[in-house]
Amino acid sequence: MAKKEAPTAKELKEQLFLQKKNAYSRMSDAEIKKCDKFCEGYKQFLDAAKTEREATVFIEREAEAKGFVPFDKNKTYKAGDKVYYVNREKSVILAIIGKEPIENGVNLVAAHIDSPRLDMKQNPLYEKDEIGYFKTHYYGGIKKYQWPTVPLSLHGVIVKADGTKITVTVGEDDSDPVFCVSDLLPHLASAQYKRPSNELIRGEELNIIIGSRPFKDDDASERVKLNLMMILNEKYGITEGDFLSAELEAVPAFKARDIGFDRSLVGGYGQDDRVCAYTELMAVLNAKSVKKTAVAILTDKEETGSDGNTGLRSAYLKYFIADLAATFGVRGREVLSNSRCLSADVNAAYDPTFPDVFEKNNACVLNGGVCVTKYTGSRGKSGTSDASAEFVGEVRRLLDSKGVIWQTGELGKVDIGGGGTVAAYIANLNVDTIDVGVPVMSMHAPFEITAKTDVYAAFKAFEAFINS
Ligand code: MN
Ligand code: MN
Repeated sequence: MAKKEAPTAKELKEQLFLQKKNAYSRMSDAEIKKCDKFCEGYKQFLDAAKTEREATVFIEREAEAKGFVPFDKNKTYKAGDKVYYVNREKSVILAIIGKEPIENGVNLVAAHIDSPRLDMKQNPLYEKDEIGYFKTHYYGGIKKYQWPTVPLSLHGVIVKADGTKITVTVGEDDSDPVFCVSDLLPHLASAQYKRPSNELIRGEELNIIIGSRPFKDDDASERVKLNLMMILNEKYGITEGDFLSAELEAVPAFKARDIGFDRSLVGGYGQDDRVCAYTELMAVLNAKSVKKTAVAILTDKEETGSDGNTGLRSAYLKYFIADLAATFGVRGREVLSNSRCLSADVNAAYDPTFPDVFEKNNACVLNGGVCVTKYTGSRGKSGTSDASAEFVGEVRRLLDSKGVIWQTGELGKVDIGGGGTVAAYIANLNVDTIDVGVPVMSMHAPFEITAKTDVYAAFKAFEAFINS
């Protein structure tokens, strides 16, 4: 009998070490094609849904086309029924009733549909030295210097004195005008360069240029403002006071594009977290029938800390689950206590140009697959829900069993910074929760980067979870 050869170091390493492989080494040509195709729809979503309100409209329309109907707490539901609930035109919950009793818990997937941007102040319109402006107050964590000299579009609603509401979208159609914030020319920037970098552009300097043509009357003052107000009055029937009850948001006006000669990456505004919103939405809309009731949350206000009645620190999710449970004669808390959640939010992709802030063994990378983040927070894990080993194990087995390409990640080196997601607020409802999302490079910049393989892997992960 031949003596059994001792394994080589290479064989032993393959057996014993964690294998980290680029998604392209793990996918067939046919699968790579699927990633590319999936991202065509994704880019359309990015262009059509640049704000939480537009995302809500998009989601509602797509859900209705797939047979979802408004949730009615006085109705009874059976397996396969599909319902949705819209919270104040800024958040949506979709649910597919499962075959198992609802007291066994539901599978929640939660992404957010708000992104960092420039909001108009309540009294935004002014003229300075014969240029017309809107005053802004930035929303979410932005590097302010990134926002000047970027073409901006304007989105939102204006509620007039009589209560009628107008929807505004200017700057998305190729024939529309756009807007922008100015910056100093380098020739005159020597004093600006000496400012601390977080003040290179200050909050009160994020003023959006909206016009320069004066009203024809040489004796009047504020003629540019007057001409602009006349145009706005003609187009929308508004007066200056109507801005007081408006929500107008400026976002980059450009469209999502492929990046690279190989077209392997997606560049676009608001991929945090619309990349998870879209992948989650597609997973739910494609689901045929589910064992456990599936609940997809697409929420607002994550970028400002999840407060407010459309954010996940509010009770709207808890109330929805309670109302849904009640249609089966079950208490909401029993459902929540047996539920599991993938908090679908992005993580910071390792950036080879800025390696110092990452701890490479625990950073997610582009083309490494969907990222599973056990904990977020800052300093000593402050503000994290920190998923249990048991739940991580469960998710790990699920993703492996379905052939989902995945990796893990942590938001930068310890004590370098940090951040949070909605995971903690859902976990606080006694739900097993973990962050699962797409690595993003240049996060919170006007033009963010994702990899097509990771986007598709996120879709596969949410699909596997919803159907488990
Ligand atoms: Mn996010
Ligand atoms: Mn964010």
